[in-house]
Amino acid sequence: MEQRLPELGELNRLIDEAPAGLAVRVAHTVAVDGAALPIHVLTLGNPDPDLPGIGYFAGVHGLERIGTRVLLVFLRGLLNRLKWDPLLQRQLEMLHMVFVPLVNPGGMWRNTRCNPAGVDLMRNAPLDAVERVPFLLGGQRFSPSLAWYRGPADAPMQPESQVLAQVVEQELAPRCFSLALDCHSGFGARDRIWFPYAHTARPFPDLPEVHALKELFELSYPTHNYVIEPQSRQYLAHGDLWDHFYLNARTDGGAGRVFLPLTLEMGSWLWVKKNPRQLFSRQGLFNPRPGHRLHRILRRHLVWLDFLAHAACGWDNWLPRGDARLRHKKLAMAEWYGWHKHL
Ligand SMILES: [Zn+2]
Repeated sequence: MEQRLPELGELNRLIDEAPAGLAVRVAHTVAVDGAALPIHVLTLGNPDPDLPGIGYFAGVHGLERIGTRVLLVFLRGLLNRLKWDPLLQRQLEMLHMVFVPLVNPGGMWRNTRCNPAGVDLMRNAPLDAVERVPFLLGGQRFSPSLAWYRGPADAPMQPESQVLAQVVEQELAPRCFSLALDCHSGFGARDRIWFPYAHTARPFPDLPEVHALKELFELSYPTHNYVIEPQSRQYLAHGDLWDHFYLNARTDGGAGRVFLPLTLEMGSWLWVKKNPRQLFSRQGLFNPRPGHRLHRILRRHLVWLDFLAHAACGWDNWLPRGDARLRHKKLAMAEWYGWHKHL
């Protein structure tokens, strides 16, 4: 197991060595090639439902090991700091944190993007795009032997997708404020932060909130190098899980609550262009090679992951209201939707 899925080995070690504050459950076990692979859900901090929450997710696509590795490095750092850092201890009295570092262990075991049933989990939600999507890439129901397969129509979501749905419904969406970050890799030359929607080019209702979060990040870390944008600016897709969870959270008595699901897309061309031989390996397209380059990637995103926990903790101090919200809406419409009227 360790050789084929070192990420699960590291997660097991981290759980064994964790301080008492980390709660662990196995939400589902995936059977693949005679192995039984757990999907772990880990929680830290104060579970009080009146407090804000943050969820970190990775490994939805089995090929994209780097997301799981970034999350494991972040989590190990948190657990080590928890033993001595009074500021982190204080933060966790005011915040609920949940982690699913390896959503699709069967896919990672087999080195495939999809899960063992051949389904691309990020096309698996019962939600169709409103406008035209790119052929295949936007999700397809022709065959699980082609990429971006959505699963059969009218079937329940795959078990891995259901684990995510349950975590969002129980641990995040009922809170006054919550954030989710899902870590992926492989798209383009830049590191990107995507927010909804993926199923339509229209703006999503919490656009002012996400713009305020972006401004907060820029003011706090002016040297950052992310492109922050709606996913629809790159491509539209059927079956996006985060759009689906977001819409569910809103219809589920979500008035007055804010749940912002974000995706980190680590730009793989950043490492491929320094080592073009990686172009010819499927793993290489989605993951940096071991060594200093891998370390740099692992280090690069820790600031963003940590910033989000702080932003969730202090949400009441920066979430825009009234005129400030209107200002953010106008700036966001101009920046991302080409809407310059009335500015
Ligand atoms: Zn991905």
